[in-house]
Amino acid sequence: MPPSQPDVVVVGAGASGLMAGATAAARGLRTLVLERRSLPGQRLMVSCMGAGAVSNTGLEVSRFHGREARFVSDALQALPADDLCHWFAAAGAELHDLPHYGLVAPEGGGAAAVAALVDALHQAGGELRLDTIVRGARHSGDAIELDAGPSGLLQPRALVLATGGAHMPRLGGGTENFDLARSLGHTVSPLRPGQVPLRLFAPWLEDVTGLWMEVRLRLWDGARCVAESTGSMLLAKGVATGEAVFNLSRHCDRSGLELGICFFPEREPEQVDEWLFRTLGERTREPVARALDNIIPLSLATAFLRKLTIKRTARVQELSLLQRKRLLADMLDLRLPVAGTLGWQAAESTLGGVAVREVDPRTFASRKTPGLYLAGRMLDVAGDWGGFEQHFALASGFVAGRMVLA
Ligand SMILES: Cc1cc2nc3c(=O)[nH]c(=O)nc-3n(C[C@H](O)[C@H](O)[C@H](O)COP(=O)(O)OP(=O)(O)OC[C@H]3O[C@@H](n4cnc5c(N)ncnc54)[C@H](O)[C@@H]3O)c2cc1C
Repeated sequence: MPPSQPDVVVVGAGASGLMAGATAAARGLRTLVLERRSLPGQRLMVSCMGAGAVSNTGLEVSRFHGREARFVSDALQALPADDLCHWFAAAGAELHDLPHYGLVAPEGGGAAAVAALVDALHQAGGELRLDTIVRGARHSGDAIELDAGPSGLLQPRALVLATGGAHMPRLGGGTENFDLARSLGHTVSPLRPGQVPLRLFAPWLEDVTGLWMEVRLRLWDGARCVAESTGSMLLAKGVATGEAVFNLSRHCDRSGLELGICFFPEREPEQVDEWLFRTLGERTREPVARALDNIIPLSLATAFLRKLTIKRTARVQELSLLQRKRLLADMLDLRLPVAGTLGWQAAESTLGGVAVREVDPRTFASRKTPGLYLAGRMLDVAGDWGGFEQHFALASGFVAGRMVLA
């Protein structure tokens, strides 16, 4: 029978809420997890471009950013990546390292991870109630009261808020996810889209679609490099996305920025220079774009020719020395004005959230409201793309579930 007044109510059945619920229930606490959507863990299922990464073998504090990035360190120590792998294995989902994406359940991805979390909650005796939106929360006297829609007025002994970020509104994100925390006395720093694709201003690139490459990116504000990242990038119709882009998109908070792309992050410029000139020297009678095909993909070579206003049919022997030098310069450091980001609809994370100074990092207890805990993406913590934020969501939920009513 579901408890009429649970010990612990968790609001939000994402990564952090499910983990908090499963951990609290495993301690024998009557635990109720409420989720407004009809399925749990929707964000986890689609995260990491659909791979559903839950962590990363490269997990360390330096992969988290913002003024108070060290806030994450206690949670990472309480549940390191190895321990999380053991936890999921025990719950029925073995995790494997998928290069470029992070630690994923190879059979079923994010859906398998969510199923493991829900199973763990149920096995421990906790309850998950879907289609239940919590519309209000207040602290009166010693108790927290929740207006839980069809579930009525709840008065748990403790409350864990795990309501997520504002990204991907169609998956239950929105700035209203922070209303409950606000109504219980917390400050929410300004919210903006994080881990978001960039729109580039380069009409000559419009025809390049679906091009995946390993790149090194630098973000330039005039002569100043404001951020750098290395990894995979997908170019499609003037939009850049993927790991390398997500990891510097948080710096795209003003106009006038330029993205510098190096298409050969593993090679020294002299090696690329030598490679290009040797290749062109060996294939003088061929059309330039085709001659470049063992160096860069044909669609990109064709776009470069368009940019340099070189005829598509031009042969290598027709290239001037200046044109060869420009080609080399673009391959090593192509500068493209950033026209903006794709915004909330395409963002994979949120920047900003509940001020972390108002939360104890050892317990995830609120410093504002007794009996309240906060976990996951709703906190003002930003991590790199590839399972890092997921891990923090799970680890903070784990700590909150372990410490609530302890
Ligand atoms: C497309 C996509 C890609 C991503 N890629 C990555 C990635 O590569 N790496 C990474 O680290 N992170 C990634 N993320 C972010 C990652 O999904 C989140 O960091 C993580 O899921 C946060 O978990 P959470 O439990 O804190 O919040 P969520 O998973 O958002 O869960 C919060 C839950 O609370 C529910 N809720 C909110 N308010 C209420 C209410 N009032 N009543 C009842 N229920 C409520 C919501 O419906 C939601 O289900 C991605 C996200 C998306 C959408």
